[in-house]
Amino acid sequence: MLSVRDAAEIIFNLVKPLDAQRDIEIVDLLAASDRVLANPITSQLDFPHWDNSAMDGYAVRYEDVQQANAQQPAILEIVEEISAGYQPKTTIQSGQAARIFTGAVIPAGADTVVMQERTRREENRVFIQAAPQPQEFVRHKASYYQAGSQLLPAGIKLKAAEIAVLAAAQCPQVQVYRRPRVAIFSTGDELVTPDTPLQPGQIVDSNNYALATLVKESGAEPLLLGIVKDNPVALQETIAYAIANADIVLSSGGVSVGEYDYVDKILETLNAKIHIRAVEMTPGKPLTVANFPNQNSAIYFGLPGNPVSALVTFWRFVQPAITKLAGLAEGWEPIFLKVRSHDELRANGKRETYIWGRLNLVNGGYEFHKAGGSQISGNLINLAQTNALAVLPVGQTLISPGEEVQVLLIASM
Ligand code: AMP
Ligand code: MG
Repeated sequence: MLSVRDAAEIIFNLVKPLDAQRDIEIVDLLAASDRVLANPITSQLDFPHWDNSAMDGYAVRYEDVQQANAQQPAILEIVEEISAGYQPKTTIQSGQAARIFTGAVIPAGADTVVMQERTRREENRVFIQAAPQPQEFVRHKASYYQAGSQLLPAGIKLKAAEIAVLAAAQCPQVQVYRRPRVAIFSTGDELVTPDTPLQPGQIVDSNNYALATLVKESGAEPLLLGIVKDNPVALQETIAYAIANADIVLSSGGVSVGEYDYVDKILETLNAKIHIRAVEMTPGKPLTVANFPNQNSAIYFGLPGNPVSALVTFWRFVQPAITKLAGLAEGWEPIFLKVRSHDELRANGKRETYIWGRLNLVNGGYEFHKAGGSQISGNLINLAQTNALAVLPVGQTLISPGEEVQVLLIASM
């Protein structure tokens, strides 16, 4: 059986990111949040665009005011008032100043701004009561960025700051990667939809709902194929359709060793190359991962049917795979943190063990609190309100309260 680390390496190597030429779409800036930038952005503009003032005050010639002090102020004639958004009309000569406001263009002839608080005004004269530094409070054209230099690299996620940069660079629309398409279906004769009254032996399909939510949260577009019976013909039809129409296929159930677990056999008849059949982890041991080298680049994940197992394997393997496929250049790998455990954590040591709970802020540091109730892969209920999985490696059977443990972040804290 494969270790979790080896399985992760195999999976992440199978994933080829979307193509920066073919797999793109153009979106308006206000619809671009959380999308992945497909191409680098180079600005045609200098930042700042013009020499401008960082203060409300007076634009002056430094040589006129370098000796100024409270006893012997420099007295200058105010020849113009320049507010933000306007082009100055005069050139400042020796003995002159312009009243200027934050963001306004520095007039020709001036090289320094004296902040208003260090001046006194009498009609059209200003008294400079303290010498400034040369060029003080001038934001020089192109001092942040020059036209032609790269503002944003490809493969980053667009958040508020990046979207502001795009706006400032006059890109009202932006090329982003299309969303990956992820087909999702549940398998099992016992499954019904949430609106169906239960007959004896049936259970409600929760995996389709959880997986669709996670796929959307990962920035991908779910293609919902519903519940498929444990029937080889129906399953084969659905799997063939899914791999032809999606970048990633997620099924849950039917990958164990029971008589009705057909998924692996059908994948073989569809010429799949099966890379993984089981992983040394709990919950989540049955996990099938395949691709179709003769057909297209789709990757198939046969997740275990147990609701917690399906989600744990999603968080550990599928979420990073979707994010890498989506074009994110860095930071798609799962995020592990080392934190103190509030509770005792136990495992049998035979497989890598994932224990669900919450990271809580305690005295300014995060602490792992194990979810109450039974930690059984079929018990979905206490997974609600969790945001982290504590990970006990193979061979480790105990973490005592107060000891450090590695946790995998599964939701924002
Ligand atoms: P399987 O992997 O098909 O053997 O299923 C393992 C367990 O998970 C069984 O108890 C199933 O009833 C349950 N299960 C399978 N699929 C789902 C699903 N979509 N939603 C909730 N439970 C499921
Ligand atoms: Mg089943």
